[in-house]
Amino acid sequence: MRVTDHRYRTEIDRFNLAVRMIGHEARTGTIRACTGFSEDRIRKIYNYYFRTGDGTVVRRRRGKSPTRIRHFVDSTARQLEASLLAGLFVLCAAAQVSAEGRVERPGGADRVALGERVCQAFEAYRNLFPEPRLSFEWAWNLYHALADSHDLYLAQCEICGGRYVQDAYALDYGRCPFCEMKDYRGTAQI
Ligand SMILES: [Zn+2]
Repeated sequence: MRVTDHRYRTEIDRFNLAVRMIGHEARTGTIRACTGFSEDRIRKIYNYYFRTGDGTVVRRRRGKSPTRIRHFVDSTARQLEASLLAGLFVLCAAAQVSAEGRVERPGGADRVALGERVCQAFEAYRNLFPEPRLSFEWAWNLYHALADSHDLYLAQCEICGGRYVQDAYALDYGRCPFCEMKDYRGTAQI
């Protein structure tokens, strides 16, 4: 009985996560990676929950997830939002960060739990930025670039000591986007 309960619970968790991710306009491949559901199952959930009623409000995205690392660091405003989102990954226990700024997946969390935590971080980010520069897919890509490929890491600002997202292979000037923006605003006022 307990095994059945556990299986049922797991199935409900996967289903809820799929619905949550479709709501964020995640790509089918990303939803598959987190839930293990087939493409057909995801399409049925989408058609049932997001296409009935008075029209489609959520787009179903196909194709590959965006992967450009530069996207997170080539604009100060976007780097700032990526840095906040990275902090939220850590706060939501989707990631942990070493003293050197290397980001890792937390031990012991399965893919459904990780997906839920990434969703939680993304939802907090959306609350902070009603017009976000990063979509869910970019957030997902940011997570992988930090925690899996390590193409990005959390550098430490030499001015304020805060952490910020930085390209692991690029020259780092030791200034976070927050200080960069403050400086820019200070100069602009003169
Ligand atoms: Zn700073």
